[in-house]
Amino acid sequence: MKFSKRIQQVNPSMTLAIDAKAKELKANGEDVIGFGAGEPDFDTPERIKQAGIRAIESNETHYTPVGGSNDLKDAIITKLKRDNGLEYDRSQILASCGAKHSFYNLAQVLWEEGDEVIIPAPYWVSFPEMVVLAGAKPVIIATDASNDFKITVDQLKKAITPNTRAVLINSPSNPTGFAYNKSELEKIAECALENNLLMISDEIYEWIIFDGFQHTSLASLSQEAQKNCVVINGVSKSYAMTGWRIGYIAADAEIVKQVGKLQGQSTSNPCSISQAASIEALTGPHDDVLEMVREFEKRRNIMVDQLNAIDGVTCNKPNGSFYSFPDFSALYGKKDPSGKVIQGSLDFTEFLLTEKKVAIVPGVAFGADANARMSFATSLDKIEEGVKRIKEAVKLLR
Ligand SMILES: *Cc1c(COP(=O)(O)O)cnc(C)c1O
Repeated sequence: MKFSKRIQQVNPSMTLAIDAKAKELKANGEDVIGFGAGEPDFDTPERIKQAGIRAIESNETHYTPVGGSNDLKDAIITKLKRDNGLEYDRSQILASCGAKHSFYNLAQVLWEEGDEVIIPAPYWVSFPEMVVLAGAKPVIIATDASNDFKITVDQLKKAITPNTRAVLINSPSNPTGFAYNKSELEKIAECALENNLLMISDEIYEWIIFDGFQHTSLASLSQEAQKNCVVINGVSKSYAMTGWRIGYIAADAEIVKQVGKLQGQSTSNPCSISQAASIEALTGPHDDVLEMVREFEKRRNIMVDQLNAIDGVTCNKPNGSFYSFPDFSALYGKKDPSGKVIQGSLDFTEFLLTEKKVAIVPGVAFGADANARMSFATSLDKIEEGVKRIKEAVKLLR
């Protein structure tokens, strides 16, 4: 069978691969502790599930407009005003089958051969792949723990070429857990606007923030920033709704129109029932969300403190999302009990899974080989047991 050049350039998702391996071990009766989860372990709140059930019962089971129902668009507009101080109208909103789909659509509509898109590393695994699928070139800016994995404006300036079309910011970040504050975003926006770059701002973790941190939307910095920014958001992470598949963009009406054309000839509208549930998610009382975030914060504290207590492991405390991104590179170069030298994050995570049945995601998947991603979307018991096992495993290295 011959396959397209396009698909042959794409790498399979390594995060999903690790998850599959851990699940297979579990299915074989092994006592695996998984820190691979890319989604909340909480169930969708009751009020939201009920809204979905009501939608089925009242036969909201037909096609809706391609970019989502007017009611959903209005709920998104209400949310953007309430949370971000942003004003949009319906022509500037488009809902898709998850925020991943939103970014995919954007890449297809905005970029092609010869275009460059700046992506800070560590990055969410799908960003560069989706840029490649569009035929464009991801330009990666490396960051490290010294600046909490955030790019500086000087790094951004150096990465810009005449072919640069856009810069992507994901704050709070998957996989690092760090979020940009307002003044950092202002510098980035100023540079992007000076250089005529579109800003793509993935804010899907905006509600999952700790220590009283204030989330700022990149689009909210000025009218000019809003015009030149595409906000990507969705209900998956903040409302524990990963399976419902609703994401959206807020952008200039011209962009929304082009994305609508693509979506109209591909998936059409996202699930009507999920749209109804998302309206409740976005506009109903948020006590359940805040409760979930408090729980994540507790778990973060325990995970990060206990990781830092292991010799050879360092971990900055993230201010958002449900991931920590510890650095294990001080252990690279050592030998495991079988005599194999640990050469990087892939070797280290394989060693942990084989030796102690702990699944974490190698940083190399996110463009950061010194680190690994550990999700704290799992119970406190599992976190304590898992980190204890990592400590024991590290002691086996010589
Ligand atoms: C999970 C995630 C998404 C997409 O989630 P959907 O379920 O497709 O809405 C987008 N961006 C980042 C950074 C994510 O971690």
